[in-house]
Amino acid sequence: MIAPKVMVVEDEEPLGVLLRYNLEAEGYQVEVIQRGDEAELRLQENVPDLLVLDWMLPAVSGIELCRRLRMRPETERLPVIMLTARGEESDRVRGLATGADDYLVKPFSMPEFIARVKALLRRAKPEVLSSVLKVGDIVLDRESHRVYRKKAEVKLGPTEFRLLEFMMRHPGRVFSRGQLLDNVWGETIYIDERTVDVHVGRLRKAVNTGRLPDVIRTVRGAGYAISEE
Ligand code: CA
Repeated sequence: MIAPKVMVVEDEEPLGVLLRYNLEAEGYQVEVIQRGDEAELRLQENVPDLLVLDWMLPAVSGIELCRRLRMRPETERLPVIMLTARGEESDRVRGLATGADDYLVKPFSMPEFIARVKALLRRAKPEVLSSVLKVGDIVLDRESHRVYRKKAEVKLGPTEFRLLEFMMRHPGRVFSRGQLLDNVWGETIYIDERTVDVHVGRLRKAVNTGRLPDVIRTVRGAGYAISEE
């Protein structure tokens, strides 16, 4: 199962370390960034499943970053939990003027933090946590690692399974080869982008059996998407 991705933007290093540790213990993939401007750049290349955003940050504040994210189609619905220090304009946060989905006042307990993350993911992105994904006539069971198309089982290798799982979590969205590499293979592994084409080819062959229509769309110059029909 591909772990949900959480980005933490927090300039207090010890807190960043603590949040990473606790999120990783829950099985999330975590990235911690200390500056608002760096987070903004990073979010233009890769959108996580959830963002934990500190209110006061160097360069671009959490409030400003949140406001900007809400204006871009890729991040307008990104689940955001805002962190604030006691007394930091908390009434404005309560008014959700920033566009955050939830907020926590420091200091908070780790069980409380994890509970909020889970609750928000469940509410905003149920597909990230659910064990069965459905797109068109394809069903993917993340627990048993089985895939069915029109009720017939489709046999996939582990990489093709992860590739399909990732694309089914974002139906209709086009991913570049680089984005697929980062999300399916991991950013620490160096693989040629052509490898993605090879695995997409294998996935296509396995899923499109008989005369069934092709569910994987190749977008010239852009990448691949799974179609919703
Ligand atoms: Ca801060």
